Amino acid sequence: ERKQLHRLRREPSRTLDGVDIRLWANAESREDVTGAHALGAAGVGLYRTEFLFLQRSELPDEEEQFRAYRDVVLGMTGRAVTIRTMDIGADKADRTGLALTNEPNPALGLRGVRLSLARIDVFRTQLRAMLRASGYGPLRVLVPMVSGREEVLAVAALLRDVARELRSEGHEIAEHVPLGAMIEVPAAAIALPTFIGSVDFISVGTNDLTQYLLAADRGNDALGELYSPLHPAMLLLLRNVIRTARARGKPVAVCGEMAGDAALTPLLLALGLEEFSLHPATLLEVRRAIRAQRLDALRAAAPALLRCRDRDAIDRWLRARAAPA
Ligand code: PEP
Ligand code: MG
Repeated sequence: ERKQLHRLRREPSRTLDGVDIRLWANAESREDVTGAHALGAAGVGLYRTEFLFLQRSELPDEEEQFRAYRDVVLGMTGRAVTIRTMDIGADKADRTGLALTNEPNPALGLRGVRLSLARIDVFRTQLRAMLRASGYGPLRVLVPMVSGREEVLAVAALLRDVARELRSEGHEIAEHVPLGAMIEVPAAAIALPTFIGSVDFISVGTNDLTQYLLAADRGNDALGELYSPLHPAMLLLLRNVIRTARARGKPVAVCGEMAGDAALTPLLLALGLEEFSLHPATLLEVRRAIRAQRLDALRAAAPALLRCRDRDAIDRWLRARAAPA
């Protein structure tokens, strides 16, 4: 079976009725990038940069960050690389003194873009490093924990300013660096029409979106089944987000864990998703799941999926469409 999966390395991620689905890779290490490239990922859909900031006492300087981002861009040889700005907060073991300590509710605190905008000096350094790396191949900037329009506009203005600065210093950077927002705060998902016009793409962080939508800590095992994206509210929200983005012609991906769960592939396809970003280890299984489905049939079954009233009903919908492994 492993061998059969291995054979899909060079096959397209295409449904039985001929629709190509984009599979991006979530990558954090050199091995992930190599793996993503070898498996035919469309590019890197999520490059988490936290590792550069954690487990050390000094902040990484522009040069160190630039080299890290440039290496990913070069490793993907012309396929797009999506680099996420730092998603640091009191929920991570930060020793640089960047995040606040002792926040009563770290998940609801100064994390992600909120911290970036509170520490413009540190943020500018990161954006400079990213834009410099854009001179080496297609690069997109993705912003975590966006809750609304103001944050998107603030980052866009900063990005323009940093680009102007770099050009005046003689750096060769890309003409256009697409800016994207992570959709992982329910307010951003619901109010997406208010800022979709100000971003080039979106990526849905279903790990955090599930946590915040259901008020269920993603790391708390005591909550058991409660922390799960298979909730009618989550499906409705996902359907609306995908619809809003597609209606405006903006690419939309899901980059949370559910994108890498082949058992959920039919569900995401039914909701209209055509871009997945997942860990390379799960890419071939999801590709196989895509190749076993007809998109027209799944789309026709979307209303039934959205009528499901509970987890059991969603599970039944999924079982009825599971392809034999
Ligand atoms: C998410 O929240 O779904 C996500 C992809 O980001 P992270 O897991 O890094 O919070
Ligand atoms: Mg997240």
